[in-house]
Amino acid sequence: MKSYQAPPNALADKVILVTGAGDGIGKEAALTFARHGATVILLGKTTAKLTAVYDAICAQGWPEPAIVPLDLKGASQKNYQDMAATIASEFGRLDGLLHNAGILGGLAPFEHIKADIWQDVLQVNLTGPMLMTQALMPVLRKAPHASVVFTSSGVGRQGRAYWGSYAVSKFATEGLMQTLADEYAGSNIRVNCINPGATRTSMRARAYPAENAQQLKTPADLMWLYLYLMADDSLDVNGQSLDAQPK
Ligand code: NDP
Repeated sequence: MKSYQAPPNALADKVILVTGAGDGIGKEAALTFARHGATVILLGKTTAKLTAVYDAICAQGWPEPAIVPLDLKGASQKNYQDMAATIASEFGRLDGLLHNAGILGGLAPFEHIKADIWQDVLQVNLTGPMLMTQALMPVLRKAPHASVVFTSSGVGRQGRAYWGSYAVSKFATEGLMQTLADEYAGSNIRVNCINPGATRTSMRARAYPAENAQQLKTPADLMWLYLYLMADDSLDVNGQSLDAQPK
């Protein structure tokens, strides 16, 4: 599977929502999915970044995407339900959901973790994706095969000093993935996690400011796994947490 090569039309006719689609790994995933034939729903906080991805996709002649500006920090259950209703009326179904948006919240010794930062990190990394997934279940059910992918981290499997709120949010993400995978096993919906591994993005630069970023993998290097989990080649994969940079 490490050498998965997606056929050029692997995602033809699929509708895939990508959160955090304006930057970093999510931007690369949106472009990659569109290049492989998907209609991508670009969700993110900064509209200008989403518009730039929209323009890049249209300039290539790939399927025209849709833009959903939404801040996961402030979004309510109603916002997610309204979004789901729009997807239902525009597309009739959702074949893929990539929960990629996330925040680091800053590293801090345990006794210095600020309550508001803790809340924000759990809101953006965990509660928002949970509410979004819940609201989107009806459109996911309408797809012949639907793939829900959460984004984990190495610190979502093994705790690490100073990574408190972020690590806890990623552990919980793994737990949510496992719970949903078990609950929907045997249905048309499969649920998995990707651990990207150290990747050259602005989040990684904030966590490791002294590191030489040129030595890191780029988002493009990870896309084989994102494609695999969105394509029908992974129909029998459910409840897994997979590494985009396996050892
Ligand atoms: P970036 O910081 O480069 O990008 C994060 C994306 O999430 C941006 O598009 C950002 O939008 C969006 N986002 C952040 N906050 C919100 C919000 N409140 N509402 C909506 N969208 C939001 O991060 P990466 O690409 O590095 O990370 C992507 C995922 O991979 C994250 O879940 C991260 O935890 C995970 N990860 C990354 C690793 C790495 O080494 N890079 C390693 C392990 C896991 P905007 O730009 O508009 O703020």
